Amino acid sequence: MKIIDLLTKEKFTLSFEVFPPKTEGNFESVKRATEEIAKLSPAFMSVTYGAGGGTSKYTLDIAKNILKEYGVPTLAHLTCVSSTRQTVKEKILEIKNSGIKNVMALRGDIPKELENADRSNWDYKHAIDLVKELKETAPDLCIGGACYPEIHPESANQNDDIKYLKEKVDAGCDFLTTQMFFDNNLLYNYLYKIREAGITVPVMPGIMPITNAKQVARAINLSGSFMPQRFKALVDKFGESPSAMKQAGIIYATDQIIDLFANGIKNVHVYSMNNPDVAEKILSNLSSILN
Ligand code: FAD
Repeated sequence: MKIIDLLTKEKFTLSFEVFPPKTEGNFESVKRATEEIAKLSPAFMSVTYGAGGGTSKYTLDIAKNILKEYGVPTLAHLTCVSSTRQTVKEKILEIKNSGIKNVMALRGDIPKELENADRSNWDYKHAIDLVKELKETAPDLCIGGACYPEIHPESANQNDDIKYLKEKVDAGCDFLTTQMFFDNNLLYNYLYKIREAGITVPVMPGIMPITNAKQVARAINLSGSFMPQRFKALVDKFGESPSAMKQAGIIYATDQIIDLFANGIKNVHVYSMNNPDVAEKILSNLSSILN
């Protein structure tokens, strides 16, 4: 199923993100965790590519397994920045031939050692180049793109960021998923601005349940997200107690999702990080709302 067809229905949905194993050695345990999440029948599951500790090698294996064994629609992430055109085209065809209908078209982070490299001869400089490649190579795939309510860290300002986002969407993105955020007002302001800029595709907010204190630093590092005082107080109070922090983090994320649903959002993507119990608790907290 194409994700765009889910997003245009009048129904609240939750989807979950997982990441593939880093090595063959932990393939089975990661596969099991993703299967436990698939058994919860989310609207769809996304599988990252070379992010969150996983590698690009197993993205398709995990995505194919979820689709084939559990019938859960999958969204395979794909990055382009340090890849050749040939490799990317091969990956696109592999996705297309696997029966997966959805791709998240990402630039990917620039590897540290290439930060100062001359990029003029790179096959792909931005995600828009991958969107165009997808449109050319496999026009039937449903394409997602990333967006940043708190501005992409490399952007000089929000106007530029939104201008490039509009170009990416116009090149062929069917929907967008946001970077994580912990203050819903940032999302509402951002949505207002991108709608004003003429971006009309569905936007799925990405919510990260923070379930241990260490994750806080990682999340800020990764996304530069603003931490509201209400969230910091919770980490200060419960950060030392793993079970209390986990419970508080899940409730905070649930509360964010309820507020999003109450304010006109229908589809939320949860960065569930291969944690079936977190996914299960959030779903059960929202059981009457989602039915
Ligand atoms: P782009 O859309 O290319 O934007 C990157 C920067 O370039 C922005 O500052 C943008 O404003 C600017 N820009 C865009 N076009 C132009 C242009 N024509 N001229 C000048 N500037 C331009 N990373 C992974 O490695 N694997 C994953 O699976 C993964 N999944 C993700 C999922 C989501 C929902 C999100 C939000 C991020 C994900 N990332 C992933 C991280 C992502 O790869 C990084 O944030 C990366 O730095 C940017 O990728 P992008 O696709 O947003 O790039």
